[in-house]
Amino acid sequence: MKEQCKLIKKTEIIPGIFDFTVESGGIGAAAQCGQFLHIKCGGNTFLRRPISICDARDGGVRFIFEVKGEGTKELSEIPEGGYIDILGPLGHGFEIKAYKKPLIIGGGIGVFPLYKLAKDLGSGANVFLGFRDKSRVVMEDEFNAVSKMCIVGTDDGSYCYNGYIASAMEHYIKNNPCDMIFSCGPTPMLKAVKEIAEKNGIECQLSLEQRMGCGIGACLVCSCETIFEGTNKYMRVCKNGPVFDSKVVKL
Ligand SMILES: Cc1cc2nc3c(=O)[nH]c(=O)nc-3n(C[C@H](O)[C@H](O)[C@H](O)COP(=O)(O)OP(=O)(O)OC[C@H]3O[C@@H](n4cnc5c(N)ncnc54)[C@H](O)[C@@H]3O)c2cc1C
Repeated sequence: MKEQCKLIKKTEIIPGIFDFTVESGGIGAAAQCGQFLHIKCGGNTFLRRPISICDARDGGVRFIFEVKGEGTKELSEIPEGGYIDILGPLGHGFEIKAYKKPLIIGGGIGVFPLYKLAKDLGSGANVFLGFRDKSRVVMEDEFNAVSKMCIVGTDDGSYCYNGYIASAMEHYIKNNPCDMIFSCGPTPMLKAVKEIAEKNGIECQLSLEQRMGCGIGACLVCSCETIFEGTNKYMRVCKNGPVFDSKVVKL
């Protein structure tokens, strides 16, 4: 659905990363974790930009984004009280079943769609969050509040675990087996997570990022190569994903 949503709360949580909450009737009520919004940023940007749903409730949607280029810059300049043209909720999100020991691992801006997931898993997940350095760490307290355990790591060791967060996860699951891994983050991290999941025989769902055009499966801009029932097949990240079973994804 398409809505003109009023921006009711705007915070720059760390330099260049904005946390927006908008009023929304239908989108908030329908949103599932892992789905995304396709947002008209205003100004000179013609194409919408995909941004994940971080949290949602009947009446409101929250999304958090990093200013990367023209579109997200224009979006960051919308004042509280302004209106944003949003299409959503779009895509195929995370599939949740009754897992005994779910594990969530996110990196950088990939942590945002994992917040609603952690909440929807009913505080039962062990969460691993990785960032470049201490200055880029976000949402640690919020994840702590909705998960069983939350481990944070930084690539340069400036805060908590020193090193790539996928390594921390790999050490952890040796003694603490889990039955599902959910992940979103930069491609090298997703690749490492996929390999660790396969090596340990653990089911895994990955949320992919691709440049997108229409966001609704018509233009094929976001096609990615997958292995489906033994053969190579192109799938659309916006429609078939962004969340895929790690076994079908080629990274
Ligand atoms: C399903 C999905 C969910 C996303 N969720 C979030 C989110 O919750 N928070 C967030 O900060 N970002 C998210 N992104 C990434 C976000 O869409 C891009 O950063 C944004 O489109 C950049 O637009 P721009 O006009 O500011 O930059 P542009 O001027 O278009 O590009 C600036 C830089 O960003 C890169 N870029 C542009 N689009 C993408 C893209 N889709 N994926 C990867 N790199 C891109 C370009 O290569 C370039 O280096 C998501 C992307 C997808 C596909």
